[in-house]
Amino acid sequence: MGITTTAAVHADQRLGRGNAVAPPIFQTATFQADTAEDFARVAVEPRGHDFYTRYGNPNHAQVAAVVAELEGTEAAMVTASGMAALTTTVLALVSAGDHVIGQKSTYGGTASVLTTLLPRFGVTVTQVDQTDITAFERAFTPRTRLVLVETPSNPLLQITDLKAVADLAHANGATVVADNTFATPINQRPIESGVDLVWHSATKYLNGHSDVSAGVIAGPAEALDRIWDVGVLTGATLGPFDAWLLLRGLRTLPLRVPRHNANGEALAAALEAHPAVSRVHHPSLASHPQHELATRQMTGFGGVLSVEFEDGYDQADAFLGGLGLFQRAASLGGTESLAVHPAAMWRGMLDEAQIAASGVPLGLIRLAAGIEESEDLVADVIAAADAAA
Ligand SMILES: *Cc1c(COP(=O)(O)O)cnc(C)c1O
Repeated sequence: MGITTTAAVHADQRLGRGNAVAPPIFQTATFQADTAEDFARVAVEPRGHDFYTRYGNPNHAQVAAVVAELEGTEAAMVTASGMAALTTTVLALVSAGDHVIGQKSTYGGTASVLTTLLPRFGVTVTQVDQTDITAFERAFTPRTRLVLVETPSNPLLQITDLKAVADLAHANGATVVADNTFATPINQRPIESGVDLVWHSATKYLNGHSDVSAGVIAGPAEALDRIWDVGVLTGATLGPFDAWLLLRGLRTLPLRVPRHNANGEALAAALEAHPAVSRVHHPSLASHPQHELATRQMTGFGGVLSVEFEDGYDQADAFLGGLGLFQRAASLGGTESLAVHPAAMWRGMLDEAQIAASGVPLGLIRLAAGIEESEDLVADVIAAADAAA
């Protein structure tokens, strides 16, 4: 952990800071140049940060330097949201006629990109069961350009074997892109397993305070140059103030994540022993079907878990209503604990058949542990489970 706390504090190397100890906010849309030559140079500089803020800004460059260091990549870039990171990357890597492999269990926005957006542009998609490496193997076609993985997945905490998928993809000439939002680089560095590019919803753990929407992409400089060129066109630019907040959040990521991990493990163990609970999904548990794989590719298991209630929807709803320290809200990775009932959230968006097809049971609650004391969170969930039993 020593290396990462130091990286989180120093990797931006006083970039654009002048004599200030804390980085100033470059709240500017554009930058002046002294000469025509200087102006011509900054206008074309790959991943530059002093031409026009849609192209780049020093506050973006500081965040990118820290993220690249934490993920162990050559380069990184910042976007206005996690979804902007995903769509910019995908637009940079695929063209009409290409084939993409994704997972069945994946973040809702990623699923919509796979099922709705990409097919409109003539890109074919196969979604596979991520727990079955042979399903990936069977999905490759001669046109497969890209494999999108997410591990642990939202909200079932299924694990993808990153090394096995990366080996398969490379043997088939495809690029592997991993959503590392749930794990964070503190718990998992996909690049070390052979993954090509990593992206995050920085809205979650990287920022860590539920007060910014942002995304990041990390990988080799050459790939980032191409993604950057598309990002300039999609224009999903993070505001300088939000980038400044994100850098501030990143400074303490290596301190926050171990606490989230400890809380996730404590909640998973306590809830698994509760009679009203039929199943807990958290990679820390020996009962997780991929616990061994998770132990191999992760150094911590994160603060998100999901819990299935024996009696289904109403019991899950009663449990959620009885929680005192968890707020009913989408998102995760902030200092405060949050909880969602996916089947309730989807009521207005999906019909019952679509909810069933998602593989998410009606009685499932997703808990995102904050950084509160473990004992307080455990007491809160046990009281709510007792009351709902
Ligand atoms: C929230 C989330 C996203 C989307 O990120 P936004 O910042 O909301 O655009 C993508 N993947 C995962 C796993 C997420 O939890």
